[in-house]
Amino acid sequence: MKKRRNSSIATCFWVILVLLFILGLITHTLRLNTTIFPEEDSHSQISNTASHDVDSNFTTSESTKQENTSIKDKIEDSESTSQSSTTSETESVTEPTVTQPEETTQPSETEPAVKETDESLIETDPVKPIAGTIFLTFDDGPSLSITPQILDILKSNNITATFFIVDYEYGSEKEDLVKRAFNEGHTIALHGTSHQYSEIYSSLDALISNFETLQEKVFTSTGYRSYIIRFPGGSSNTVSKKYSEGIMTKAVEYFSTTDFVYFDWNVDSQDAGGAYSKEEVFENVTSMIKPNRNNVVLMHDSNNKKYTVEALQDIINWGIAEGYVFEAITHETPQVTHRIAN
Ligand code: ZN
Repeated sequence: MKKRRNSSIATCFWVILVLLFILGLITHTLRLNTTIFPEEDSHSQISNTASHDVDSNFTTSESTKQENTSIKDKIEDSESTSQSSTTSETESVTEPTVTQPEETTQPSETEPAVKETDESLIETDPVKPIAGTIFLTFDDGPSLSITPQILDILKSNNITATFFIVDYEYGSEKEDLVKRAFNEGHTIALHGTSHQYSEIYSSLDALISNFETLQEKVFTSTGYRSYIIRFPGGSSNTVSKKYSEGIMTKAVEYFSTTDFVYFDWNVDSQDAGGAYSKEEVFENVTSMIKPNRNNVVLMHDSNNKKYTVEALQDIINWGIAEGYVFEAITHETPQVTHRIAN
């Protein structure tokens, strides 16, 4: 009896041992299943395996405490962990492919753009700060030989200027030049229908009429009503004294009560007399231009002013190199005027 009891205890012992071994095998294969996935894939799954490890550790520690945990529960656990591992896998797979490219493409797209603008800023920064403004002004035009050449040069340099024009015929090539100058952004200013001193300075009324008549003509041609004027000979002329004593003083007083604004000059190219080569025109202009002020340059675009045309590109190049900007006179430009001498 004792032997049979001992042998039955021994078989029970072996059966328990075999059951424990099988249980151990099941838990071991479960651990393998959960650890295989993270080793294959990215670092984000390591957190999942860590959580799986904690779970499996928890189950194994529990299994040691409660040896009678059923295999069914284990299978359910393994199903839930494999489900969670697959869902967390899809999340962890989709997450990097969606977020990581965004993170990598965003800087790679923005970084060069910022660099480009930085470089372009550096490149477009002027070598020198703005030294001053040059207002190129051309009197006594339009002329068929000179004005088109001046307009071409200004256009190729993307520079606007001011043309103090005299009379022209409607429907003429000169009117076309006035329209062209206006359309290309230049200021059409008024010198007068007549340049004859004996006529225009014969009386104040004659002088006023000289500007108003031309103003109306320009308005008809271009739709632009110009209020910018230049007295023939300048406001400092003394030749007018021959025809009317004190007419310049009266004219300045009168026009100050109107919308008309008159401009003289502070840089004289002397292309109307005194300069007999393009070098002289260039020298006269560049030697008188000063920084930190509005430089109003007197030039002419009447028929025989070829030195003006020849010197113009060099003057523009010099001005740009020296840091000046070129502008057309507007109604808002501060006046540059001479001292009245009559
Ligand atoms: Zn003139």
